[in-house]
Amino acid sequence: VSSEREFDVVVIGAGPAGEVCAGRLGEHGLDVAIVEQHLVGGECSYYACMPSNALLRPAEALAEARRIPGAAEALTGALDVRAVLERRDEVIHDRDDAAQLPWLEKRGVTVVRGHARLEGERAVRVGDELLRSRRAVVIAVGTEAALPPIPGLREAQPWTNRQSTTAEDVPARLAIIGGGTVGVEMAQAYASFGSAVTVIEAAPRVLLREEEFAGELVCAGLAERGVLVLADTKVTAVRREQPGREVRVELEGRDDVLADEVLAAVGRRTLTSDLGVDALGVEPGRPIPVQDTLQVAGHDWLYAIGDANGRALLTHMGKYQGRIAADRILGRDDARVRPLSDGALSPRVTFTDPQVAAVGHTLASAREAGLRVRCVDVETSASAGGSFYGRGAPGTTRIVVDEDRRVIVGATFVGAEVQDFLHAASIAVVGEVAIDDLWHAIPSFPTRSEVWLKLLEGYGL
Ligand SMILES: Cc1cc2nc3c(=O)[nH]c(=O)nc-3n(C[C@H](O)[C@H](O)[C@H](O)COP(=O)(O)OP(=O)(O)OC[C@H]3O[C@@H](n4cnc5c(N)ncnc54)[C@H](O)[C@@H]3O)c2cc1C
Repeated sequence: VSSEREFDVVVIGAGPAGEVCAGRLGEHGLDVAIVEQHLVGGECSYYACMPSNALLRPAEALAEARRIPGAAEALTGALDVRAVLERRDEVIHDRDDAAQLPWLEKRGVTVVRGHARLEGERAVRVGDELLRSRRAVVIAVGTEAALPPIPGLREAQPWTNRQSTTAEDVPARLAIIGGGTVGVEMAQAYASFGSAVTVIEAAPRVLLREEEFAGELVCAGLAERGVLVLADTKVTAVRREQPGREVRVELEGRDDVLADEVLAAVGRRTLTSDLGVDALGVEPGRPIPVQDTLQVAGHDWLYAIGDANGRALLTHMGKYQGRIAADRILGRDDARVRPLSDGALSPRVTFTDPQVAAVGHTLASAREAGLRVRCVDVETSASAGGSFYGRGAPGTTRIVVDEDRRVIVGATFVGAEVQDFLHAASIAVVGEVAIDDLWHAIPSFPTRSEVWLKLLEGYGL
């Protein structure tokens, strides 16, 4: 038996992007359905940002306490790994999405459980029900871990982000393929739990798209925790003779790495293979290209937001896009993503110790974009505030200044707990604040925000 229901908007996928979009539409009185095949809250809430930060934060807090005389002496034990994993389970609500539902309910959004597939214009099939939309369909399906075509990898039953963020036990040896954000964060977490960790990265350094010093400082931090980072190294094969036995990771020109688990952290695949988007010319597993309005060209009723469009695989960017798509559906014709707030320029944080928090261009990407730029580098903690927080912790901060317009086009902070430094830089970059005006935005004494004074003095103001 097939039934039909009609809504103003149907959103496919209840991750952060879909939820924010549906919630905003509901707040403005539209009748909205959101379809979810797994857990309301998406990858972010259960298998990505939330659990990974829960795994990282306790060791980070310990490292900070160790830097502070008086507090350091009070640390008499080691990290309590069991308690960390229990706290992680609490953060991900034991993978039960009940706590996530009231937010949608309050906004009048109808949650439909099941796998959604487009079936022609403004129609979405979920099992034997057809959901018709009067105004728009929003695709917010997100991504899953990509498995590179390395012989034996799939058969070796590798961990993806899902296992690494929800594991109940800590492997004695963990090999990680990929030195991007996920790879280095998981290396840091598992090293702090006592695993012997090896990171294998094909590129010459980890965090390739960030400033070179960022990758170097993160590498040094990992090495201090006993992590072996093999850069410029290709994996040629992975073998696990029997399930549950050790894995052998074969490398080009180097000795094999033996481990108990191998984590594939080499990028993401869009969940487009069974979505009915083939008619749009989208290859399965590839992102759905959209215009700056987040609409699919030639199909004004169809939007793709969040990881699904491949522009910036970050929760806050998906939420941003969710708000913009909602505004557009609500009739605000000027709603569109701005070039300075999108794609590779998006604000981004790697939660290692030291952390890397960056927005806008790196020096290299600014030059590639044809900008005439100059950079200023200072030590992140070389301020009075630095003697109380992140004391003596290594770190460099860089701003990249467009010399023609005298505005900051990029900033990278590397140091202990610098994540909340980033937003000031985002405001300067997106607002195109003149560097001469920044001189009059005065950081409090003694806070580590005085790094801004050093940067401006370094620039010559
Ligand atoms: C280990 C890890 C750590 C990360 N840490 C951070 C971080 O600290 N900060 C940050 O900003 N980003 C982080 N990210 C990235 C972040 O998780 C994603 O950018 C974010 O989850 C994308 O949100 P989304 O709503 O687009 O998709 P998702 O969160 O993937 O949600 C999509 C939802 O759609 C559902 N779905 C898919 N297909 C269908 C279908 N056909 N029918 C019905 N439902 C469907 C899925 O079940 C899922 O619930 C991390 C990623 C990983 C892997």
